[in-house]
Amino acid sequence: MGKEYSSAPEIEQIAERLIEHFKPDLEGFDITYIFCSENPKKAGREVTALARKVIGLNAWLAGFPDGFFVMEVGLPAWAELTPEQKIAVVHHELCHFGVDDEGFLTLIPHDIEEFNEIARTHGAYHDGLVSFGHALQHGNESSRSEILEKILNG
Ligand SMILES: [Zn+2]
Repeated sequence: MGKEYSSAPEIEQIAERLIEHFKPDLEGFDITYIFCSENPKKAGREVTALARKVIGLNAWLAGFPDGFFVMEVGLPAWAELTPEQKIAVVHHELCHFGVDDEGFLTLIPHDIEEFNEIARTHGAYHDGLVSFGHALQHGNESSRSEILEKILNG
């Protein structure tokens, strides 16, 4: 059986609350939230979710010749997540959407692209990794509490 897609109101609800409270730049832009019966793959590796822009023939056929934006979440991976992890995943994917200089929605790459092997060997060998390392150690308890409070309790 092939992949099956379905609409994802659960994702949309989390995303809309995150946008309202923490990502106001994204307000008013259309993002389609979908579940896939299989976890999406990026560069051959299974991931929980993906932010993508559908372009070309598929976009044209769907009636959006200029393309449209999708947050795709794999149902198998999603089913394993705690409510807190679900919010973190959706927050992560929303960080892939941004507004360009001309006011159009655009895709944003990760702040950090790195290999475990390099981290194990060289540690935080540039400033971006140093600040990421600090952030990773602790997160921000009060920001996290605020997000959980606002998203989980409406
Ligand atoms: Zn990502």
